[in-house]
Amino acid sequence: MVALQNHREILDKAVAGERLTPEEGLRLLESHDLAALGRAADAVTRRLHPENYRTYNIDRNVNYTNVCTAVCDFCAFYRTPKSKEGYVLDRDELCQKIQETLDLGGDQILMQGGLHPEFKLEWYEQLLRDIKDRFPSLNIHGFSPPEIYHFTKVSKLPLRTVLERLKAAGLGSLPGGGAEILVDRVRSAITRGKVMTDDWLEVNRVWHSLGGRSTATMMFGHVETLAERIEHLERLRQVQDETGGFTAFICWTFQPDHTDMADTPPAGSFEYLRTNAVARLYLDNFANIQSSWVTQGLKIGQLALLYGANDMGSLMIEENVVAEAGTVHHLSLDEIRGAISELGFTPRQRNVHYQLFDSAREEWAIEANHQRYEQIRNAQHAPKNGAARTLVPLTIVQGDSTA
Ligand code: SF4
Repeated sequence: MVALQNHREILDKAVAGERLTPEEGLRLLESHDLAALGRAADAVTRRLHPENYRTYNIDRNVNYTNVCTAVCDFCAFYRTPKSKEGYVLDRDELCQKIQETLDLGGDQILMQGGLHPEFKLEWYEQLLRDIKDRFPSLNIHGFSPPEIYHFTKVSKLPLRTVLERLKAAGLGSLPGGGAEILVDRVRSAITRGKVMTDDWLEVNRVWHSLGGRSTATMMFGHVETLAERIEHLERLRQVQDETGGFTAFICWTFQPDHTDMADTPPAGSFEYLRTNAVARLYLDNFANIQSSWVTQGLKIGQLALLYGANDMGSLMIEENVVAEAGTVHHLSLDEIRGAISELGFTPRQRNVHYQLFDSAREEWAIEANHQRYEQIRNAQHAPKNGAARTLVPLTIVQGDSTA
């Protein structure tokens, strides 16, 4: 009875806007009262977001290379530098993907890749310049902290210099990928040759000091303990106190298929919703939490909007990383908007800074997506030859490296 009371007191404290201690966060994460966690997380979300809308964005995940010098046991996407299956996307294909994104009402690409052993910083600067020359209004949400850290090693340049030069070349914002669990014990157990906790955080700290913004992520449900999940949240909260530069947090469950950790039992919906709710309660200095529907499907992704999330994440036009691990959810813009509407909110398209698009632009994107789906439907019913087949890569796939 005493424990139950304490649990309720912790929830009341968070709902009132008081900061939770790591011990209190852990108590909540150990709780099985999912309904109580959800109610409290939802109360916090509604306090922070009293507006009558919930948001989403439209972008495309562009993986410029799958060649990687690191070895992550949970990753089914990468290929070793000697692999015949390694690729580097050529510029024409890259630009075509961007144009398709803009044609569907998107405003940014999420551009990430493996840790390529040879490319110097100049290669990435040229990549950014080529894109910005052709698509000046596009936001390049690119290069996760492990990649940035890797660039400093390959080019033998200080972190600040690397970030300053990438920013000058057109880098818009940093995705929060490669965080997994920000505890070195966990990172050492599941990755080799990849940035460790302090340096992952330092990339963000320096980027924020340059006026840049980034997102933060957590991939959980593998070898970490519940206490280590809280330690992860605590490290993020500390950096956010220092810089205020994180725009959002997104967590998702590890997808084991086709990875070296395939025998790990997958974390389910209960675990996902519980962790998402606790993240909302713990990260009192984060304005936005994104739902991750890729790993749990649309319905749990929708429910996450009642368990601490205020944003449906991205309608992604392409995703490769999570898809390689066997998770592929097809979802249309109408389905994302419908999931928001069903909960009594108005769906609104936003940019990376959570600024809303005006209604005319939003309507235009909806119509563009309708037309594209019409084409895809027609293509699926057409004989499998000729132009119709080229539409297949445009099937909407939601990926969870959305951060
Ligand atoms: S998760 Fe990233 S760093 Fe790790 S192996 Fe895959 S591509 Fe490389």
